[in-house]
Amino acid sequence: MTAASYPVIRCDGEENLGGPCDAEIGHPDAVTATDVRRLRAADGWHTRPGGRDICPECWKDDIR
Ligand SMILES: [Zn+2]
Repeated sequence: MTAASYPVIRCDGEENLGGPCDAEIGHPDAVTATDVRRLRAADGWHTRPGGRDICPECWKDDIR
């Protein structure tokens, strides 16, 4: 693992046709992971109660 110089969030969708989803995303304007969640919400990322992040693909596939 390399240390990122910016925060990222990782998809917590699981068992997506053969394995856990490991989608990961950041945002150039984000300072904290909270910023990433807020900014990427426009791209279809969701945060579930408990803090699980779900990528657009998993959300679309109803893996929540
Ligand atoms: Zn995912």
